[in-house]
Amino acid sequence: MRNPKIGVVSLGCPKNATDTEVMLGLLNEAGFEVTFDNDEAELCLVNTCSFIGDARKESVRTLVELADQGKELIIAGCLAQHFKEELLTEIPEARAVVGTGDITKIVDVIKAVARDSSLRVVEVSDVPNNYDDEVLPRMVTGVGASAYLKIAEGCDHACTFCIIPLLRGKFRSRTIESLVKEARILVKGGVKEIILVSQDSSYYGLDIYNKMALPELLEALHEIEDLDWIRIMYCYPTETNRALLEAIKRLPKVVKYVDIPLQHSHPAVLSAMARPRNPEKVMDLIREVLPEAKIRSTFIVGFPGETDEQFEHLVQFIEKYRFDRLGVFTYSKQMEVPSGHMDNQLTEKVKKARRNRIMRLQHDIAFASNKAMVGQVIPVLIESFDESKKLYIGRSQWDAPGIDNQVYVRESAEAPVYMAEVNMVLVEEAKPYDLIGVAYSGTEQVVKAAVNEHDGALVTPVSISR
Ligand code: SF4
Repeated sequence: MRNPKIGVVSLGCPKNATDTEVMLGLLNEAGFEVTFDNDEAELCLVNTCSFIGDARKESVRTLVELADQGKELIIAGCLAQHFKEELLTEIPEARAVVGTGDITKIVDVIKAVARDSSLRVVEVSDVPNNYDDEVLPRMVTGVGASAYLKIAEGCDHACTFCIIPLLRGKFRSRTIESLVKEARILVKGGVKEIILVSQDSSYYGLDIYNKMALPELLEALHEIEDLDWIRIMYCYPTETNRALLEAIKRLPKVVKYVDIPLQHSHPAVLSAMARPRNPEKVMDLIREVLPEAKIRSTFIVGFPGETDEQFEHLVQFIEKYRFDRLGVFTYSKQMEVPSGHMDNQLTEKVKKARRNRIMRLQHDIAFASNKAMVGQVIPVLIESFDESKKLYIGRSQWDAPGIDNQVYVRESAEAPVYMAEVNMVLVEEAKPYDLIGVAYSGTEQVVKAAVNEHDGALVTPVSISR
């Protein structure tokens, strides 16, 4: 099989997505043809996820589906790191497994299996501790004008429910110089929003600069012309300090959006999770330094031993802090991590009931937060056009791709809509998880609108005067 045409599937988190883009960039640079139509492919590179049970099932399902289509497989990512050579035994169509710390060896792996049809390769470091600070070639696959920038790999925390440190290794930051260089290339290619990702972005730099250097990184990225937005994903409670929040406030290109998974609120549950016990402290600090910011968080319900009282504590915490964006997950038992061996594992029925209760509560909080936006003029990064609705689709600075709200935008007589650009939009209507608005040219005077509390629709239209 000389120079096979390579198909690709990328599963899991944005960090995995950037690894996929780097592997495609390296293969492309080495002269391999990459296709996004797997029907055409002879060999499929599947970058897998193994974070929790459901993600693992999806990875295996994807591999089996491709194998059933007669595809030969290169298995990369967390499932490869997790199960290594076992995957070659379980999936005969697998020609190679490539670990999370071995993505830069992808070209050699594919050259080897292309040369010898009987060869099957295991390229998985026991402990992923690779350190790739150089700017690697990358095939950006994201939609619109956004790109992820992975600022570090691995994690030094040991949350008792999380398998990531086992699959991604210790925390390893890239240097500011290398990240700025890569960001400049992305912006030169038309990117307007750089989204900083890692397992714990607020920890950035502690391993190489002996201090939390995210503010310095933000300052350096802020110098890049033609870059409109810088977004930070995955902050950790105890490291989200005043210096970081003041840098977010001071730098106009840094969106006023704080993504901070808290996982729970009750000190006893947080202790059992091996996580910081006082989330109120960081929430009050964010509200004090960045009152204009919108906060995203995620919570786990049904952790082993979680009592009704502890769950009620979480419900009251969410009612008190009213998160603008929120994700809630049911605890997923895994034997590779300490919580899998804890007593008092709860039933799926209890876990689901608790998740649904929080989602009902969050529906009303999110809707109220969106209603308060009606009549405001906000910047929106336009990413696509919906032919059926004849509306443009974008995201506000308070919305990360794939997990948060969308803004539906129509053109106005005064203002066209520019694709892959940040446009000013007058919000006309609120939905629980989306906004609807009109392009705003900036010359019109906006008079405050009245909103029907029930469905977020306008009582009196937003009036525009010259
Ligand atoms: S900080 Fe995040 S990635 Fe690290 S162990 Fe905890 S949950 Fe996992």
